Amino acid sequence: MDYEAVIGLEVHAQLSTLSKIFCGCSTKFGAPPNTHTCPVCLGMPGVLPVLNKKAVDFAIRMGLATNCSISPKCRFARKNYFYPDLPKGYQISQYELPLCEHGWVEIETASGKKRIGITRIHLEEDAGKLIHDPYRPVSRVDLNRAGTPLMEIVSEPDMRTPEEAGAYLRVLHAILRYLDISDANMEEGNFRCDANISIRPKGQEEFGTRAELKNMNSFRNVERALAYEIERQTILLEEGGQVIQETRLYDAAANRTHPMRGKEDAHDYRYFPDPDLVPVMVDEAWIEEQRQALPELPGQRRARLADQYGLAQDDAAFLCTARETADYFEQCAGMCQNYKAVFNWVSGELTALLNARNLNIAQCPISATDLAELLKLIENGTISGKIAKTVFEKMAVSGQSPAQIVKESGLVQVTDSAVIEKAVDEVLAAHPEEVAAYKGGKKKLMGFFVGKIMQKTQGKANPNLVNQLVSAKLEQ
Ligand code: ADP
Ligand code: MG
Ligand code: ZN
Repeated sequence: MDYEAVIGLEVHAQLSTLSKIFCGCSTKFGAPPNTHTCPVCLGMPGVLPVLNKKAVDFAIRMGLATNCSISPKCRFARKNYFYPDLPKGYQISQYELPLCEHGWVEIETASGKKRIGITRIHLEEDAGKLIHDPYRPVSRVDLNRAGTPLMEIVSEPDMRTPEEAGAYLRVLHAILRYLDISDANMEEGNFRCDANISIRPKGQEEFGTRAELKNMNSFRNVERALAYEIERQTILLEEGGQVIQETRLYDAAANRTHPMRGKEDAHDYRYFPDPDLVPVMVDEAWIEEQRQALPELPGQRRARLADQYGLAQDDAAFLCTARETADYFEQCAGMCQNYKAVFNWVSGELTALLNARNLNIAQCPISATDLAELLKLIENGTISGKIAKTVFEKMAVSGQSPAQIVKESGLVQVTDSAVIEKAVDEVLAAHPEEVAAYKGGKKKLMGFFVGKIMQKTQGKANPNLVNQLVSAKLEQ
């Protein structure tokens, strides 16, 4: 039997507000345990939460950027459960009246564009963190993170493959980064994803029973965990078994999932409206204000870059994955009008350099101005494209400007035909057999001669001139 996967994702993004969602404590990461706490986020009796307006602003922006409708009235609810990192015994979340609903984003798939529905986006508070002592049977709790604002983005079960899930996550991630409302760093845990997955026989309408996967700390791992789970569920069904609704943890080292606990249903949480918080009324003016604050979004920017700089869609998409990369490209393109060359260098040499040093583009050792300068040196014939790569490497190490490097290392391209002619003569004289073969019709040897001459001039000879001179001599 042929099976098809059905995937829906729940993403938790930590919002980058300065203070927590219901108290004034700092959200700054890395402070000594329990120093960013107060009676509210410690869950002392009798204290009252006060909503941070900025968190609502940010979530409205996300809702607008993902084509959601913003609810005129939303309400907070208590989600009741016990865990030692949750001092109140409940998490303040939203339940029957979320802030945003019925949105969608577009992803690229192998068979074209596809819309993935967004069921809802709501606000909630994060819990604290347990720190398990590796040497003794002791666990400690740090409540600095308790009360940090989270936005939960729930998708419709619209994805059918692990790749689609990965593409959806990357789209959400880019939007969050463009909006500048979350660091959205998966490894640091401020962008977390739970993946719900079931399978069903191809052609069947009804969904199968889902498992919920947790503990994936990269996009790649989400895709791998889903791929594993599709296989596990398929084998299970083929052997006549049944998938049970449960939460499973992904073990990246072993690349498998294993059961963590049976999955609760909503009614297990005894949700009820939080009597300490008034409903939030969002009027048109508030929404409009947030709409005005929206920057150009990844999809819009991709279309504009393709159009304005004559780039292929895929190339524009590559640049727009991270806002900073597109910024870098545009800065460079503002100074060097050979846009194709700018793209090639940013996506080629520059990306390779960043990958090799494990840097992001904001930490790039070569400024956009310097790269543009380098490209201009190629264009005006001062250096060849080949030498430019050497200059680029030196720029990455020393931080010097390309002009300075070219001058100090004597890398200026040789365009003096007398000098090149001498090298040509020497090379041809040293390889009489190849010359004879060439004249006998083995025209492919041209590359061999040019290579030797470039070697002799340390790559500094103008390649066009070399070609011209060699052909002229050999055709004599
Ligand atoms: P819960 O809190 O119980 O996980 P949510 O409504 O927050 O419930 O999230 C449910 C997620 O699971 C959504 O992303 C939804 O698209 C997805 N989902 C629901 N049913 C299925 C199913 N049968 N197979 C795969 N995904 C599903
Ligand atoms: Mg869930
Ligand atoms: Zn506090």
